[in-house]
Amino acid sequence: MVSESDILIIGSGITGCAVARELSRYNASVTVLEKESDVAEGATKANSGIVHAGYDALPGSKKAYYNVRGAKMYPDLCVSLGVPYRNNGALVIALNETDRETISILKCRGEQNGIDSLEILGKEEILHLEPNINPRVICALSVPGSALVSPFEMAFAMADDAASNGVSFLFDRQVLSVSRLPDGRFSAETGSGTFLCRVLVNCAGAFGADLHNQLSPRKLKMLYRRGQYYLLDRLSHQPFDRTIFQCPSLMGKGVLVSPTVHGNLLLGPTAEEISDPLDTATTAAGMEEIIRKASLTWPGISIRNNITNFSGIRAHLTDDDFVVGPCESCSGCFEAIGIESPGLSSAPAIAVDLREEIVSYLNLSMKDHIVPYSPQPRSFHDMSDEERAVVVASDPAYGNIVCRCEVVTEAEIRAAVRRPVGARSVDGVKRRTRAGMGRCQGGFCLPRVADIIAEETGLPVDRITKNGGAGFLLSGPIIHPGMKEGADHD
Ligand SMILES: Cc1cc2nc3c(=O)[nH]c(=O)nc-3n(C[C@H](O)[C@H](O)[C@H](O)COP(=O)(O)OP(=O)(O)OC[C@H]3O[C@@H](n4cnc5c(N)ncnc54)[C@H](O)[C@@H]3O)c2cc1C
Repeated sequence: MVSESDILIIGSGITGCAVARELSRYNASVTVLEKESDVAEGATKANSGIVHAGYDALPGSKKAYYNVRGAKMYPDLCVSLGVPYRNNGALVIALNETDRETISILKCRGEQNGIDSLEILGKEEILHLEPNINPRVICALSVPGSALVSPFEMAFAMADDAASNGVSFLFDRQVLSVSRLPDGRFSAETGSGTFLCRVLVNCAGAFGADLHNQLSPRKLKMLYRRGQYYLLDRLSHQPFDRTIFQCPSLMGKGVLVSPTVHGNLLLGPTAEEISDPLDTATTAAGMEEIIRKASLTWPGISIRNNITNFSGIRAHLTDDDFVVGPCESCSGCFEAIGIESPGLSSAPAIAVDLREEIVSYLNLSMKDHIVPYSPQPRSFHDMSDEERAVVVASDPAYGNIVCRCEVVTEAEIRAAVRRPVGARSVDGVKRRTRAGMGRCQGGFCLPRVADIIAEETGLPVDRITKNGGAGFLLSGPIIHPGMKEGADHD
């Protein structure tokens, strides 16, 4: 099978989705090929969820440029896409004299990068603001611009907006090879067909360098750095209001202790070089390291409320900067490679630049009509009793709580499947609605969620997966209520 579009984007992480959304406003056919079965299955689903202000990246680097621009775009973007965002601020703490020097360097860097309002606070002020911090703290960089966001909810919203404006998202389509045809078009081979295009956009995360190296004589080398985390249940009393960082190292921004935008508590990440970009295991050694390092920030550390552990892979180029823009030796190919931290913060700005370059390359005109985005309604969990009564009256499925831990209703789960780029797996529903994100981690609601997906998609329930691929939840004969064991089943 051969398909053709003007523009082919490889990868539907935050970068690919942001680029797709930008391009969806123009008269061009755009297809996104994703090797997994949903949006945001790479680094975008497993990171700290911080919109960094931009104090860490080296002045003059692409990381600094895109971080600062991208972070400024977040507040408005989150409002228009209905994605939760909280400007909680951050402290980078110094626990010794070497850290104190690092803090001064970070402040200078941040100011060179154009961030104002950075301030170095003394011990008393820090302990007044955040009484649970290690009393051995000697000073801290206060970063009021730091914020919290849900990375995958951002990607889902961008994908929905792009799809509503004509972009096709095709899942389970791993691009195995890319090549340039004699007529100037590109060909992307997948296990289920060939995709031709005039412009190829490489947003393939940890596989970006592999694809680049097939088209360019200038070879890129990528290293994979795993970051493991502890995630604690939503807490009524968070130990910290701000995100608390330790001083960064060459391997990353260090272990943080931070609330999430939904009120969970996050501890991590580690920074381990690994050889397999798909190795998202968590390890006993990683967990011990997090506790050891996080307890330097929070001596009263408690992981009693731990609900899950996870890890994500940083796609680090040995040149130590993002590669963004046209591929220098292959016109028509545009790239966003090595998008490690602060890539989440940078993605909206990276997408604007790539869009401008692609629009100019293809000489595209804007569409006459852009379908306005309709943000998802506020979650039932966050509604007042009065608001709940109104939505239940309008749709009784709001009155049926499926996930008790996170108070997610049947109406919200059905809506998640019906979205323009809708959930097809239990984890897809989880990340769109939070059903299964709570203390029992889906122990109670998983079967009901699977039933709803089956009802909405028309698929048999034994075809519903936990997270795509062959991860089916059920196998063998299914006995429905009222049916005798051994009877025919559907
Ligand atoms: C531990 C950790 C913590 C982080 N914390 C932060 C933070 O707090 N703030 C911040 O700003 N940034 C943070 N980051 C960085 C941020 O997560 C990434 O920069 C961002 O998610 C990268 O998005 P992406 O779309 O470029 O890549 P990805 O999210 O990895 O997406 C790439 C997509 O391409 C697909 N793909 C790959 N190869 C192919 C192929 N051959 N064919 C088809 N599809 C393919 C993948 O399946 C994937 O869906 C962190 C990263 C990590 C790992």
